[in-house]
Amino acid sequence: YAKAHHRGTAVLFSVEHETQLRSQSVIEQALRHADLSQEMALVYQPIVDVRTGRTVAFEALARWTSPDVGPVSPAVFVPIAERSGLITRITEVLLGQALAAAKAWPDRVALSFNLSMADVASPQAAAGIVAAIRASGLAPGRVILEATETALIQDVAQAQRVLETLKANGIAIALDDFGTGYSSLSYVHRLPIDKLKIDRSFTSEITTDRACRDIVTSIVALARNLTLDCVVEGIETPEQARLLESLGCVLMQGYHFHRPMGFSDTLRYLDAEAVRSIRAVQAVA
Ligand code: C2E
Ligand code: MG
Ligand code: MG
Ligand code: MG
Repeated sequence: YAKAHHRGTAVLFSVEHETQLRSQSVIEQALRHADLSQEMALVYQPIVDVRTGRTVAFEALARWTSPDVGPVSPAVFVPIAERSGLITRITEVLLGQALAAAKAWPDRVALSFNLSMADVASPQAAAGIVAAIRASGLAPGRVILEATETALIQDVAQAQRVLETLKANGIAIALDDFGTGYSSLSYVHRLPIDKLKIDRSFTSEITTDRACRDIVTSIVALARNLTLDCVVEGIETPEQARLLESLGCVLMQGYHFHRPMGFSDTLRYLDAEAVRSIRAVQAVA
């Protein structure tokens, strides 16, 4: 019985695996035939300085709605696009949209844009990114490019050259999902990084797990010593925000502050924020 049962499980497993593989190739086909500039869009999530309560940047997050397969999360389609070589074109389309959006924001608001593995692995891709930023007329100092450690360690020497090029052009670099990789510390030292983004997995356990708090405290101290900015991701509750603030975190991002929103909502949101801070100044005066 045990054997039969075991075999049954194995069969279920492989069917599941096969379904997954099949849907991956369906997604890849849909992506190949997609009208990227129509089907790809960005939503924007504020990164807030909790000392002032104001938005210092928006992170652009990709959304793809395929007429064939419906909405597909970037966590699913980005890796598929990487493997099939479609990511370069996707980055180009999305970066164009993001730069146009950022031009409509006040100068003090930066754009944080996610790079893929392919973008940090190729000098041509990096040159394309620099050219797009130049052509947009947005000050490069208002652009932050986010890369994960996983993307950077594929070829550290190449990534280092790419990041140096971006930095030489006045663009800031953030290390995304910090703390989840293999050996983050050696890369923080070797790569020209301006910001660390502490991964959401730390935030979600911050109020319940002592070790998590200690890790965040250490990362904040590390960032301060290396004069890097530190952004905490995935804050969902006021308790998490308060605790993180007590640990010295000042730049925060998460549903507690705002969910990612469409471009026109960013303009309304920034207006409301400006009105709020004028009122606050008037209340003090
Ligand atoms: P990421 O860069 O670490 O982005 C943060 C993710 O956390 C986003 O998921 C965001 O919607 C989500 N998030 C933000 N606040 C909260 C919160 O309080 N709670 C929870 N549970 N989640 C929160 P999203 O938009 O699904 O993106 C997933 C990943 O896909 C991103 O992780 C990034 O690695 C990648 N990605 C997104 N957009 C792009 C893009 O334009 N290009 C590339 N190459 N990758 C992208
Ligand atoms: Mg990111
Ligand atoms: Mg992240
Ligand atoms: Mg993440």
